[in-house]
Amino acid sequence: MKRRKFIKAASLTGVGFAVGNSLTSCDESVSEKATEQQKKAVNDLFGLPLVVATWHVKNATAKAMAVLQAGGNALDAVEQGCRIEEANEKGQSVGKGGLPDRDGNVTLDACIMDKHGDCGSVVYLQNITHAVSVARKVMEDTPHVMLAGEGAKQFAISKGFQPEDLLTDASKKAWEKWKVEAKYKPIINIENHDTIGMLAIDKNGDISGACTTSGLAYKLGGRVGDSPIIGSGLFVDNEVGGCVATGLGEEVVKTVGSFLVVELMRQGKTPQQACEEAIGRIVNKPNSNYKNFQVGYVAVNKRGETGCYSIHQWFSMTKFQDGSNEQIQSDYYNKA
Ligand code: ASP
Repeated sequence: MKRRKFIKAASLTGVGFAVGNSLTSCDESVSEKATEQQKKAVNDLFGLPLVVATWHVKNATAKAMAVLQAGGNALDAVEQGCRIEEANEKGQSVGKGGLPDRDGNVTLDACIMDKHGDCGSVVYLQNITHAVSVARKVMEDTPHVMLAGEGAKQFAISKGFQPEDLLTDASKKAWEKWKVEAKYKPIINIENHDTIGMLAIDKNGDISGACTTSGLAYKLGGRVGDSPIIGSGLFVDNEVGGCVATGLGEEVVKTVGSFLVVELMRQGKTPQQACEEAIGRIVNKPNSNYKNFQVGYVAVNKRGETGCYSIHQWFSMTKFQDGSNEQIQSDYYNKA
């Protein structure tokens, strides 16, 4: 079926098999020359536009898809999608309502990356719900890539973001309960591993990605994870694809996980194969104690193929493609 669609698209465009690569190339002149009919044929073939995200976040992927359907670009889509979860106080791992560090401070990490390979990031941001939008402002309005802590907060306020208390009653209660024993132990697949990472491909075939989190619950004050680190929590290369990570950030940083997945796709691996190999790099380390932590990757390539893989069971991705917004359980390594 896929092959039939491919041949149909090739004949419609009249440029044969090269069409897949040229129309989805980041070479603006090529995509400008493509007629609307050619673009549509390629989009139908690859199932574009599409959105994928870590975990079960159908409202967020629906928002991102609505942006794309209205003709918006992938960058707007991932920003708007992530904002849904940042504003959702019930989600205790992202934005407002995120679980605090051990001192009771909610500190956010986020980043964003566009089709040009430009990126922005904020780390240890306090009192501002929409960390992903601050990251975008860093990318677009400063000569820098990353702002931290008080500087990031002051920058956000200067851009019109309203400071607010991010510690909700529910998260305060959970923190107070945790304080009774005050044990820090990363726990697999519960709310303290619930970063939202999102990737989108728009109707021009361009890719962007974003990642936002309150990080590990009850972390040490000042701790920053993988999520705002370009190449670790997120990487996008518009010629190849993109990847986002969730789970124990330290392990993702040590293997530069998202960059690794994109580079493996560049070498010819499918998104699924690339995610599996990147998880392999973590679990196959001689001193790996992977049984005690979770890491999960979600990836997409330029042709709209997707993949996800994790160390342990119960990781999932949400995918909105070809009119269907669905949660997909990830395959995983630790089946013992
Ligand atoms: N990756 C995040 C971090 O280490 C945690 C998560 O995915 O929930 O901060």
